[in-house]
Amino acid sequence: GKIQEERLKWLTDNKGVKAVTVLFSDLEGRLHMLDYDKKFLVNSYDNLTFDGSSIRGFTAQRESDLRLGLDWSAFYYTPADIFGSGKVLVFGEVIDKNGGHYSGDLRGVLKSYANEQFAKNGYALNAANEIEGFLFEGIDAERNFAKTGEFVYTNQGGYYHSLPGDPLREFIDLTAEVQRAMGFENEKDHPEVAPSQFEINYTYGDVVTAADQIQLYKLICRQVANQMGMTASFLPKPVTGVNGSGMHTNVSITKDGKNLMWDPAGEEKISKFGWEFVDRILTAGNDLCLLLNASVNAYRRLDPHFEAPNQIKASATDRGSMVRIPIGNEKSSRVEVRSVGPDANPYMVLYSIFKTGLDGKTAQIENLRQAERYLPDNIYTALEDFRSAEWATELLGADVKQRYADLKQASADRCPRLLGTIVKDCEVQFH
Ligand code: GLN
Ligand code: MG
Ligand code: MG
Ligand code: MG
Repeated sequence: GKIQEERLKWLTDNKGVKAVTVLFSDLEGRLHMLDYDKKFLVNSYDNLTFDGSSIRGFTAQRESDLRLGLDWSAFYYTPADIFGSGKVLVFGEVIDKNGGHYSGDLRGVLKSYANEQFAKNGYALNAANEIEGFLFEGIDAERNFAKTGEFVYTNQGGYYHSLPGDPLREFIDLTAEVQRAMGFENEKDHPEVAPSQFEINYTYGDVVTAADQIQLYKLICRQVANQMGMTASFLPKPVTGVNGSGMHTNVSITKDGKNLMWDPAGEEKISKFGWEFVDRILTAGNDLCLLLNASVNAYRRLDPHFEAPNQIKASATDRGSMVRIPIGNEKSSRVEVRSVGPDANPYMVLYSIFKTGLDGKTAQIENLRQAERYLPDNIYTALEDFRSAEWATELLGADVKQRYADLKQASADRCPRLLGTIVKDCEVQFH
């Protein structure tokens, strides 16, 4: 199309650009980066292939060759002082043998869902994520944790803390600067409640852009921290006894620009449409948990004493609820899913939240929004719930569901256990 032509011309004309980094994510949400020489890419962009069998959760050996298409609308200039000179980023999409989106690439699944069922008919699926993380001493803090069982804080302050020369403040400022340079529309940033914890907020976007931006946010944070000799970690609960890190996912749907979540006469000013969306999410609370809380460590976070939810209910105020209704107006009215961990696959998270909220089922549970129902408190329970969930099969297809469950089972089994409880999260995941 037109965008493709424009980008190709820009690449060719712009002598400073030497390489194009193509980004895609595996089934668990790990970001993969392939660097292509610019000239090669400009000539061969429609014939890029890679070996899918070396990507976790992708194809089996015998059908290993996959094609990589480029999404030219997801194209990012990169500041040279952070990413090296002469590079741009573009998101790729994995194409299967028949030319369709490959089912293990959730970016493609999300994009088809949003475009074919909604964008075409005037609907937009919007998301804004509040991604929390920690800044730890040392460039290898996550790897070292496996040996020492310890993270070292870079800062002792708490919420809104700010002092000159504070490394956490310097990190936040530099990260926000890089985000702006890459086209994020930043809103606010601040140190979070726990020592060395941060949150940098930017504006909402359509689901695919929002998911791409989650991947970029984490990439930028890691890159900036690394240059400072530190580590940005998105483990949900790296340190016991203090708040963990969430990825609160705020969602709304607009039709021809009108926010369908909003109704000034509705309960909490949320429309009937909005409450039905919430009811379907609550109904599937157990089915979805392994997708939203995707690691052994994620279950340690789900504790209301640390502002993280453990109950499958909806509330305007109670931060122990999976779903919260923030105060809003016609423009900002939305539903917040609070249980999501920052190490989950963002494409999977947004696809499953929207598809469940829009196409899911509503259980005949009395007082569904306030009933006493709890999220799984460990990954094994979540695995059981997920495996037995028919809704998970409808969401992902039997094949992808099975492969995802197998990966999570394997990572859970790698953690040493004592009397059935997981004693140490040896599996530190880098995504
Ligand atoms: N850190 C909390 C969580 O794990 C959220 C705290 C907050 O943003 N108020 O979800
Ligand atoms: Mg926030
Ligand atoms: Mg927060
Ligand atoms: Mg929030």
